[in-house]
Formats: sequence, C-alpha cells, structure tokens
Amino acid sequence: MTRVDFSALDAAGLNLQAVFSLAALPGDVAAALDPEGRHRRLILIGHGGRTLWERVKAADLATEHPIDEFTRARVAEWLAAQLPGVAHELVYPGDTPVGLQALGRLAGWHHESPFRVGVNAEWGSWFAYRAVLLTDADLPPSEPLAGDSPCATCAELPCVAACPAEALSGDEFSLQRCIAYRRLSDSRCRVTCVARTSCPVRPEHRYDDAQIAHSYARSLAMIERWGG
Ligand code: SF4
Ligand code: SF4
Repeated sequence: MTRVDFSALDAAGLNLQAVFSLAALPGDVAAALDPEGRHRRLILIGHGGRTLWERVKAADLATEHPIDEFTRARVAEWLAAQLPGVAHELVYPGDTPVGLQALGRLAGWHHESPFRVGVNAEWGSWFAYRAVLLTDADLPPSEPLAGDSPCATCAELPCVAACPAEALSGDEFSLQRCIAYRRLSDSRCRVTCVARTSCPVRPEHRYDDAQIAHSYARSLAMIERWGG
C-alpha cells in the first residue's frame, strides 16, 4: 500500500484526514461521487480548532472565499509532493453535491448535536469539512476517530437552554424558528449561534470571534437571499 505523510496539511491547519476505500462506502455515496468507478480511495479533509483560520489570515487572500482558496492551494501542493503523477479529483469544494455529514459520521467526526452542527469528544463542535478528494492511490483506509458523542452524557443540555429562539426545545430542531430569529435586526445570532458557543465541550478549540462571524455571516447572507 502507498503511504503518505499528512504533516504538511496538519501544519496548514487542515489537520483532520480520513481515508476511505470507495468500495467500502455505502453504494449510493460512492456512486454519487465516482459514478464511473475510476478511483480507489476517498480522502476527507477537515480542520479542527483555530490553526486553519490563523493560516488563512496570514495568507491574506483577496477573495470572497479565502478558506476554500487556501484549502485548494494547500491540497494541490500536498498532492504534488506526496502523490505525484497519481490520478485524483477534488470533488469538494466544488459544484458536486457531497454528503459531508454522512462522510463525517463514517469518519467518527460527526455525532448529532441538538443544534445540528456535528460534535465529537476531541474537538467539540469546532471542526469542519474542507475538502474531499478521490484518488487512485492505494492508501491504507483509516480508523474512525474514537470516542462517543459528548451529548450522550451531557445532563444539563446548556445548548438547548441557551437558544434564544427555543429552536432546540422540541422533539426536533426547528430550522424555521432558528431562521426567523436570526433574521431579526436585534438577533443575538446574526453572526453566531449562541447554542453552539454555550456547549462546554473542548472550549480550548473554540474558533475566535472573527472566524465564527465569517462563517455565520455567510449562512445569514444565504438565508437573506433565499428568504427575499
Ligand atoms: S451542550 Fe451538551 S447536548 Fe449540547 S452539543 Fe454540547 S454536549 Fe451536546
Ligand atoms: S443560531 Fe441562534 S436561533 Fe439558531 S439554533 Fe443557534 S442559538 Fe438557536
């Protein structure tokens, strides 16, 4: 099997990597991403914690999507160094719909939280998906991230209590309540999620306020665009 060194991605803040055999993925997932069966492996790349944002800020990219641009560049460099000449395809970021949370579940990164963002014992909710690669390289598939959902032993549910829209109080997350509240001019959630920032798991990895605002300003802009 081909061995690769992920340390250059780690140093760039792209410090979560999971390698899947495409043949071992659920058929619909593999078929959606690689309909012609051209590749052997899928590499899911994410970031955990604050390092990526620090590197992106230092790169000072003049683009509307600095994290995606930064990720594309670092992944291209990593591929050139580690898998030169090996066929590959970057399917995310891109136009292909990718079930990122489904892959995150398989990687052990994503456990359900009341506020719909994935959570795990190592990073809390402070991680995200940054790239999905398909490759011909015969890489060893990785083991899922260990650890049960922190929510399973969270008795007080501070995230549920903190949501000002009570969007987490019913049997299911109410996207409608969340969106309606976020759109209010005096909303506390225009550029953050108060429920998410109230979760006590792994606070040392919490994004800085600028990164949180960057992420939630983008989602609010989409809400405003769809909502008219
Ligand atoms: S506050 Fe508790 S229930 Fe809410 S996401 Fe964190 S661990 Fe899970
Ligand atoms: S963004 Fe605000 S309203 Fe929506 S779930 Fe989070 S805390 Fe609740």
